[in-house]
Amino acid sequence: THRSKVTVIGSGNWGSVAAKLIASNTLRLGSFHDEVRMWVYEETLPSGEKLTDVINRTNENVKYLPGIKLGKNVVADPDLENAVNDSNMLVFVTPHQFMEGICRRLVGKIRADAEAISLVKGMEVKMEGPCMISSLISQQLGINCSVLMGANIANEIAVEKFSEATVGYRHNREVAERWVQLFYTPYFIVTAVQDVEGVELCGTLKNVVAIAAGFVDGLEMGNNTKAAIMRLGLREMKAFSKLLFPSVKDSTFFESCGVADLITTCLGGRNRKVAEAYARNGGKRSFDELEAEMLQGQKLQGVSTASEVYEVLSHRGWLQLFPLFSTVHEISTGLLPPSAIVEYSEKLPRSF
Ligand code: NAD
Ligand code: 13P
Repeated sequence: THRSKVTVIGSGNWGSVAAKLIASNTLRLGSFHDEVRMWVYEETLPSGEKLTDVINRTNENVKYLPGIKLGKNVVADPDLENAVNDSNMLVFVTPHQFMEGICRRLVGKIRADAEAISLVKGMEVKMEGPCMISSLISQQLGINCSVLMGANIANEIAVEKFSEATVGYRHNREVAERWVQLFYTPYFIVTAVQDVEGVELCGTLKNVVAIAAGFVDGLEMGNNTKAAIMRLGLREMKAFSKLLFPSVKDSTFFESCGVADLITTCLGGRNRKVAEAYARNGGKRSFDELEAEMLQGQKLQGVSTASEVYEVLSHRGWLQLFPLFSTVHEISTGLLPPSAIVEYSEKLPRSF
């Protein structure tokens, strides 16, 4: 058949909402198979039941998105290989640290004509240098990969509050339009731009700024300080992106994936929330401990991204150019106290 088949790889907080958005569209649009497969990293719930079974019985992801019906055409599948079998549209949406392992397991298992999109905010750092998750997917699986990022706190989209998102695509506008169709709803406005790296770096780097914003909240430094941290962070996001990929467009930072995602994440995200608790505790309780206690299995991306960014910066001799990014890493590893987040004014470069 020529109808597209969609698989969502991941079923966390955002993964579940992505499946819900997509499932509403595959039902409505004739060019997609109704059924949406959702790969679930299987776990046993306190009740003794498997998460996959509960999702398929109740149509709810009771652990990562309780209270929200996903759509009857979402089918949870704990078998990764089976979940992608036959699909030509692959939506990747797991915490970034699991993506390398997932890609490795998918080599040789997917359709040669498959297209991918990554909703994953993060990067890998290898010997050769940084590798964005969309490149990891492209390189490991030999398929094209677009990205979708934006000001998209999952729990708000789950209850259909209005928001926007950005698709970043590489060459083919038609492929981008297909992804827009799959996600677009009257409450989820999706715009495509030809700038994969710019869109993906915005989504990835704002998580580091959100950690800084959380420190400011935990130290009760007020709105002006927080706005200053966001502005300085945005400036480093842009400088870092352009140093890595000169093709990144200025205009991308004004899309939903840029300044809008930065704002929402610094106001209401999980990275902000856990960083606030870290600063309130004076850095005495680790991020791992706070994450496990506060997020019930959901994962932070900002702390590991700060460490990955730090590795790139030190390797290239750029640490002095990025005082906010490097200070976030130094605070979150306990090298500096949380108050250091505003104690680097003499280090700020004037040049960008
Ligand atoms: P999440 O934070 O809810 O993470 C939990 C998920 O990780 C669960 O599905 C769990 O089964 C899975 N998991 C745990 N251990 C695993 C393992 N060893 N291997 C594979 N999977 C494992 O996930 P999420 O909110 O869906 O986030 C996925 C990506 O989307 C992240 O990069 C995040 O930054 C991004 N994102 C999240 C939101 C949001 O509001 N939640 C919004 C936009 C983008
Ligand atoms: P957090 O992971 O900090 O909750 O950010 C979610 C997000 O990416 C919103 O777009």
